[in-house]
Amino acid sequence: MKRLFSLAMALAITMLLMLSVSGSGGRRVVTVVLKGETVTFDTPAYIENNRTMVPLRAVAEALGLEVTWDQTSATAWLSDGSWSPSLRGRTIVVDPGHGGASTGASYGGVRESALNLSIAQALAEELRSLGASVVMTRSSDKDISLADRAAMANRLKADLFLSVHCNVSPTNPSAKGVYTAYHGGSAQSRRAAELLKNAMVSFAGVPDMGAHDRSDLAVLRLTDMPAVLLECGFMSTPEELALLLQPEHQKALAQGAAYGAALFFSPPSL
Ligand SMILES: [Zn+2]
Repeated sequence: MKRLFSLAMALAITMLLMLSVSGSGGRRVVTVVLKGETVTFDTPAYIENNRTMVPLRAVAEALGLEVTWDQTSATAWLSDGSWSPSLRGRTIVVDPGHGGASTGASYGGVRESALNLSIAQALAEELRSLGASVVMTRSSDKDISLADRAAMANRLKADLFLSVHCNVSPTNPSAKGVYTAYHGGSAQSRRAAELLKNAMVSFAGVPDMGAHDRSDLAVLRLTDMPAVLLECGFMSTPEELALLLQPEHQKALAQGAAYGAALFFSPPSL
């Protein structure tokens, strides 16, 4: 950390001393010298409104940092390479939606309740592999009231509540992708819903259907901790239903959600 700090300081000082400014179409192009070496950029650095605009990746990598870019959230993660996802010390309640007489949606002979349970079990496994203590609201085909699901998480003082569902579009027969929902009154839930959705989309390679304020959903309203409802894909689209049934796809969605949860609790930092 100290080394990085002194490198960053050296960069700042070097840049102050070495900014060589020349005209270029109204912008003033900047040369950056790091420890005596000129840093090359694919896009030139320039000065605008008295601010020096430098391509982040080139400078960060010259300082030995790792850069991870997320297009959907327009977030650049900088880390010194020592970050790895961890959920140690976290209690997470995983809630497979529906069950028993409440089958949820039903397409192609597949009940949503059964599909949710299968994906939720994959999710529990991935969360545990990152060190989380996981409690499932159900692990068999039985119905539990929405209030009881939330009460279970509240009683356990869980750190995160994740409800697993699959989506249906009555109007779009080719709808695909991951959709997450949070309670609008909770900024933390919203952050978690964005992070989990982004990671699921990127791990599973599916379309981004957004993170949405769904304060109407009882499990999100009745839980005391950050809570996210994951709509893992569209059962009403035959191609996506086939994908949702594949164990490898379920695992990719689960790995994405677990990675997103790790980012939620402890993002990489310097
Ligand atoms: Zn559902």
